[in-house]
Amino acid sequence: MASGISGRTKICGIFGCPVEHTFSPAIHNAAFTAAGLDYAYVPFRVEPLSLAAAVEALRALGMVGVNVTIPHKETVLPLLDELSDEAKLTGAVNTIVNRSGKLYGDNTDGKGYLHALREAGFNPAGKTVLFLGAGGAARAVAMQLALAGVKKINFANRTGRRASELAHSVAEATGIRVETIPWPDQAGGILPARILAESDLVVQATPLGMSPNINEVVPLPFKVFRPGQVASDLIYNPVETLFLKKAGQAGADTVNGMGMLLRQGTLAFELWTGAAAPLEVMRAALKKELLRRNKQ
Ligand code: NAP
Repeated sequence: MASGISGRTKICGIFGCPVEHTFSPAIHNAAFTAAGLDYAYVPFRVEPLSLAAAVEALRALGMVGVNVTIPHKETVLPLLDELSDEAKLTGAVNTIVNRSGKLYGDNTDGKGYLHALREAGFNPAGKTVLFLGAGGAARAVAMQLALAGVKKINFANRTGRRASELAHSVAEATGIRVETIPWPDQAGGILPARILAESDLVVQATPLGMSPNINEVVPLPFKVFRPGQVASDLIYNPVETLFLKKAGQAGADTVNGMGMLLRQGTLAFELWTGAAAPLEVMRAALKKELLRRNKQ
């Protein structure tokens, strides 16, 4: 917000349930102020049964758009007028843009992840990737990595059926090689060291290790990690999960989920405003908010 709410202020926000813990208002409102844009970002707790009414309200209230989070990312699709290729591929939307009453749904999670990964110096082309987890975030990221030319993706998930379904959709949509492997706990202890050793990138896409459960970690043969590999956790709080700590101690490069969160945010900012997003302002706002919450 440039100078407080006025009759001209453009409103965007986030629909989720719960929505109390979102970092996005802090990030976006700092960005609007820095860019001198008369916009405000507001969180809305939307119960599943109210989603259709909330989406209709975007039109009725002339809102610019919203982010969409758990549990609405998939159920919102049929309520929209147009979808991006990413939204179609992932079957999920995390950003809605109100284009003169026509609602456009996009998914910036995967693109945001790829942006952040490249910024960390990793080029996915020709690489082998291991996914731990097969939920919505894994789907968005895996599709984007497949489109970016990775050679092969191995999927391990607690519920094996979901890993198979995701592997099948990624192979069908992009033609890359995929394999499903048992979840570490169910394979007699730990994931085969061979799978870990052949991975250039390991993506941790479960909530294991997320604050406040910071001592949780997927049981892996962490000694197998080596320099040249990248361990990537989608979690951003804490900034160093136990997974990243253990992989880093064995020599792997580590990337946390902050870059993905920031980059999906800069892409949404650009979709809503048409202006370049102030990345460093948004990064500083996220770090400040993380510090504030972790002090509480
Ligand atoms: P989701 O759709 O609910 O999927 C959760 C995944 O984690 C599923 O594969 C689930 O396995 C697995 N899982 C959950 N609890 C588990 C446990 N106790 N043991 C083993 N596996 C478990 O959630 P999501 O949206 O994909 O989010 C996954 C993670 O990514 C979260 O930590 C979230 O904070 C993070 N994320 C980060 C960003 C970012 O911008 N950095 C964006 C989105 C998400 P089952 O299939 O067996 O249930």
